[in-house]
Order: sequence, then C-alpha cells, then structure tokens
Amino acid sequence: MNKQCKICQNDAPVLGNVPFDKGNENEANKIVPNGHEMIPYHRCLSCGFIFADAFDEWNHKMFTKYIYNDNFFKGLEGHGQSSRSEAQIEGMSSSYLDGLKLDTLIKQFQSTGFLKKHKSEMKILDFGSGGNPGDTAKALLDNDYQVMCHDPFAFISSADTLPRDFDIIYLIEVIEHCCDVHGTAQFIANHLSEDGIILMTTTLHPFPYSKDIINSWYITPRTGHVSIFSFESLFQLFRKHRINIVDTKSILVGKKIIQS
Ligand SMILES: [Zn+2]
Repeated sequence: MNKQCKICQNDAPVLGNVPFDKGNENEANKIVPNGHEMIPYHRCLSCGFIFADAFDEWNHKMFTKYIYNDNFFKGLEGHGQSSRSEAQIEGMSSSYLDGLKLDTLIKQFQSTGFLKKHKSEMKILDFGSGGNPGDTAKALLDNDYQVMCHDPFAFISSADTLPRDFDIIYLIEVIEHCCDVHGTAQFIANHLSEDGIILMTTTLHPFPYSKDIINSWYITPRTGHVSIFSFESLFQLFRKHRINIVDTKSILVGKKIIQS
C-alpha cells in the first residue's frame, strides 16, 4: 500500500518488508512483538526518504521493551556505551571517540571563523545523548566544553527547561531513529540560536537505489532505524524548518536561513 512521504507528501510505495529482528543472530535474545513480525519500509518516489511507520503509534513502554532495552544500550554497533568515567585510549567507546572527533571539528570551524565563540562561552546540546551524560558528551565535557543532554529515546529529558539559544546542537547517528522527523527538526530549530549550527551524522542513501537497499545492515527495525535519508530528503525536511543543510563530507552541517 502506498503511503504519503512524511517529508514531501509524494507517493511512497513499499520498498520491502524487513523482519523485526533482522541482524540479531542470537535466538535466545529474540524479542519480536507479535511473533515474527515483518516491518514494511516505504520509499518516497520524489525525495528518496525511506521510512517505517509501524512504530509511529508506539508509546514509551513499547520502545523501552522492544528496542531501547538493555541489549540496545549494552552496545549495539554504533551505540556503544562505556561504563568508565574516563575512557582509556584502547577502551574508548565509539561514542566517546565521536566526541573527540567533534572537538577536532569545532576547533577547525573556529580556526576558519565559522564558529566565533570560545568553548567557554559556547552552549552545546547533545540530542540523542544515550545517557546523562552519554559518552559523546563525556568526551566534550572532559575537554572543558559545556554540554547539556537530551534523549527522547532513553527518555532523558529536560526539554521544558532547556535554553533556546544553543550555539551547537549535535545529533550523532540519531535522526535515523526518529519517527516524528518534523517534530525533531522543529525541536532543533526551536532550541538553536540564530547563528548556531547543527552537526549531524547519519548514513545517507543516494536515490534512486536498487532493491539491495532493503538488505542493507542499516535497515534494521530492532535497532530503531526507522527513518533513512537521502541527502535530498534531509535537505527538504530541515528547509521546512528554516534550516539549510550542507554535506561537508566529514559531517552534515545545518544553519538557520536568515530571513530578510
Ligand atoms: Zn518525499
């Protein structure tokens, strides 16, 4: 059945059906809502956005039971959490290393004048932090940045009290987890200062794509990957919320569009 694209409202037929537990080799750990449920993924014929809407009506309890449970936070690839307060080089989680990469990028942006503030004056928000703080934020805190954490998936939220003038909001491998992509983009637009920037990573799939995409490791319901973007779809989504996205190849960067 065709659906309407969540981003551009054009036709989005079914791309394929994916077993909920795809990629989980350990039978003993299988948790499948309603048995061997198949999850349909749709792809927009216009902007290339790929999405599953099977979880759009899930409540917090279902997400924490089936997706964001202990197994998820124990370290599915790309989401490793370290229990150490100070990670050693060999023991750093991938998330901690992401934080160190952000530090390097921020320094580069400062050296070119793209970011003007010193880190002591900068307000940073980790969106989808995976902890309070998560490991990515820990790496930045260890390097004397000021970072606040917000995680709608782990239900760490201080959204009501968060400032609305962050200089940097980063989302590292997060946006693919969002069912409500417009709500996410709006939240970011609402909390970013007029000259603030977004730093974002997610695996972009070019459009059009062969049926191989449905077999991609990246399309896995159990890891919460429900929104898979082409660059065009990501660009269009944020454009609707007055943010321009640029792919610098090292990271996706967003900046508010100045209204004249
Ligand atoms: Zn679309």
